[in-house]
Amino acid sequence: MKPAYREYLEQLRLSFPQPVSDPVHDAWFGRCVMHALEQVDALKNRTPVLGTPEDRSFMTSTECRIADEPIGLEETTTRLVEHLNGMFVWGHPRAQINVIPPPTIPSLIGGLLPSIYNANLASDESSFRVALAEREVTAIMADLLLFDPDQAGGVFTFGGTGTLLYAGKIGLEKALPGSSRSGLQGSGIRERAVIVCSDCAHYANRTVAGWLGIGDENVIEVPSTPDNEIRTCLLESMLRDVLQRGDKIAMIVATLGTTDAFGLDDLAEIREIRDRLVDEFSLDYVPHLHADAVIGWAWSVFNDYDFDANPLGFRHRTVRSLAGTKRRIRDLHLADSVGIDFHKTGFTPYISSMILVRDAADLARIARDPEAMPYLFQSGEYHPGMYTLETSRSGFGPMAALANLLLFGKNGLRALLGHLVTMAESLAEHLEGHAATTVLNSENFGPVTLFRVYPDGVDTFKAPKQELSNPAMRNELFRVNEYNRRIFDAIQSEALQGRGVVISLTDCYRETDYGEPIVALKSYIMSPFSDEEYVDAVLDSIWQARKRIGASL
Ligand SMILES: *Cc1c(COP(=O)(O)O)cnc(C)c1O
Repeated sequence: MKPAYREYLEQLRLSFPQPVSDPVHDAWFGRCVMHALEQVDALKNRTPVLGTPEDRSFMTSTECRIADEPIGLEETTTRLVEHLNGMFVWGHPRAQINVIPPPTIPSLIGGLLPSIYNANLASDESSFRVALAEREVTAIMADLLLFDPDQAGGVFTFGGTGTLLYAGKIGLEKALPGSSRSGLQGSGIRERAVIVCSDCAHYANRTVAGWLGIGDENVIEVPSTPDNEIRTCLLESMLRDVLQRGDKIAMIVATLGTTDAFGLDDLAEIREIRDRLVDEFSLDYVPHLHADAVIGWAWSVFNDYDFDANPLGFRHRTVRSLAGTKRRIRDLHLADSVGIDFHKTGFTPYISSMILVRDAADLARIARDPEAMPYLFQSGEYHPGMYTLETSRSGFGPMAALANLLLFGKNGLRALLGHLVTMAESLAEHLEGHAATTVLNSENFGPVTLFRVYPDGVDTFKAPKQELSNPAMRNELFRVNEYNRRIFDAIQSEALQGRGVVISLTDCYRETDYGEPIVALKSYIMSPFSDEEYVDAVLDSIWQARKRIGASL
């Protein structure tokens, strides 16, 4: 008689892709995926949210336990699909919430294939061609960003935060060689290290400073201009202060595409400042210059677009916007490394992020001692696992990225980004045309529009400037902040019922000159399905909300 466990085993074998060709089983595998898709489809409705609104509580989650018996593949799928209830549909034209794209079908397949066969990018031993995909994407991106593809190196990691972590690690090794081994306070190292970025840079800079042992107190935030760019003259004097104190610069971070406003730092100027200070202080290292372009990188497809002939036929305002972005993005090659999120402006699923370094030798600076990894790297020639933070590393990121780079080509990505920017421009135009609304980032040229809604009787030509600079306006600022929060709540509750558009709110789009937070409403258009009618819907939502909560403070 068969032992009982064999029954389980035989059942469970069916839940694995078959190791040798079995077309019938493959068809069933496909059916299982189809079945999941059908169940998700049943959750779609006209709102940008899957399923039905429900009580959002984690209360019962602690009651979950593993069952004694397997529940089978179908039931498992159903239970998983239930977990999508209440999710935003990022591809819905009524979802304008954040820099989160809907992923393309090829990028999903690109992610699925290495998952089925569990490619591990620690080395090229087990999955040479998936490792090759990482190298191919590196070359494509190096070329797009105007680096030398023969010299550049790149590695995929766990998000934009990961790209900053790698840059900081490389920068530390440049500023304090040997610090990986000895620690920041180890053999002979007693210096403080700092990370310098703008006050519009992402908070991930602080995270990374904490995790690297630099300490988040040692992140120096340089004030930005009203256009959300780092003030380069202040950057220079603040860097000079650091060097005069005898502290080390672990890295300088230029942000190209700030998260809330799409501000673009002047990388060319920053590079000049850095080089000048290296000479002036006769530094024995060159402070690492990293471009956090996790959002802005995609605009590199316009580096060689013919804006005069405009073969894709973008309207004038869009051309101006795209050219304005290109003006800064084409300088990305002046950085020592660049962070790229394909899962932001490259339309792949989470996670697909890479750090690109101008000089592949920079990655060798953070390599471990081969003797520490005796069971790895016995064959093959490409061993990113020697320097990656990760040990097991998925093929998901590079394959998803490669999928979209192949799918889109330059013109495809140009068309997508051009369309998103056109929609954002159209929204900004409408908002600027109305007395009760003001666009806050009208000099930033991305798919994101930050705006404020004012009650009646406020002079919206003067108020935004006064709020920004005049401390006597503090109370007025707070009241308008509160008014915008109420507008947001009203828009949100309607949108979740399927009326209007889901936008978002940022508690501090930037600080006023006197240090108070400016609340802003935010429309981030990332859906390829967006169109004029949904721009009108945003405006409609605003007027409806304004009517409902009243036009006075
Ligand atoms: C989103 C973002 C990050 C963090 O990237 P993740 O992929 O979310 O880890 C870093 N910098 C900027 C400018 C960002 O917008």
